[in-house]
Amino acid sequence: MEKLLLGKIAVVTGAGRGIGRTIALKLADEGANLVLNYRSSEKETEELIKEIEAKGVKAISVKADVSKFEEAEEIMKKAKAEFGKVDILVNNAGITRDGLAMRMKEKDFDDVINVNLKGAFNCIRHASPMMFRNKGGKIINISSVVGIVGNPGQINYCAAKAGILGMTKSLAKELGSRGITVNAIAPGFIKTDMSDELSDKQKEAILGTVPLKRAGEVDDVANAVVFLASDLASYITGQVIQVDGGMVM
Ligand code: NAD
Repeated sequence: MEKLLLGKIAVVTGAGRGIGRTIALKLADEGANLVLNYRSSEKETEELIKEIEAKGVKAISVKADVSKFEEAEEIMKKAKAEFGKVDILVNNAGITRDGLAMRMKEKDFDDVINVNLKGAFNCIRHASPMMFRNKGGKIINISSVVGIVGNPGQINYCAAKAGILGMTKSLAKELGSRGITVNAIAPGFIKTDMSDELSDKQKEAILGTVPLKRAGEVDDVANAVVFLASDLASYITGQVIQVDGGMVM
């Protein structure tokens, strides 16, 4: 079968580990060249480049904090300099700073909004003009099911992830006439370093609410990204695909 993304240029933010890393590998499996953004995982990202290039596609890395407007611009400038364009943008970078609202530090609220929500805006702001000129592109924003249903102890994270959904739908309306699709993926409970911070009791409680009775794998999320990034999804825009084993419905 022909590869789904042959010759496409994909930017993945927060690609050094976890879901972002697997997204990058799966996009490469389908023939895409990669621009890998990372903030601190330099060594892991260099290893990832080797792994990706072994698949016969090109990859570069860009160290940047997506919450900084100019640094996000640098990612897209480097993508343009190396590959001439951006076809696919996956806004994956994210952090959590959990705590109850009445005790939450202002900085913990701001940091989560700045990375998870503003970071996605910053990348969209600098990638979308290129897509607009090229009359095509796929933007995929990684939200979370808690952005749909809320979660105690995560008002900052849930606000950011809900904000991403509003941004996705508005942007889909702005860019649709140029053939650019914008969708969000809302993962449920996925096995990564981020979710590993939960206690066994918390994990057990979450799994009790999942009809498929297992935590999601990073591959489950990455497969949905590949689908949305490909022409198989060319008539899908402004949508939220939940990859959550049926946790929220
Ligand atoms: P992770 O912590 O393993 O990976 C997040 C990556 O983002 C890291 O590589 C980190 O360095 C990077 N990052 C953080 N701040 C950054 C910044 N300012 N600039 C650039 N990169 C930055 O987490 P993960 O579980 O792989 O999560 C990936 C995405 O999926 C996140 O947006 C997260 O909110 C979302 N998500 C995860 C789960 C889950 O269960 N793991 C569930 C729902 C949604």
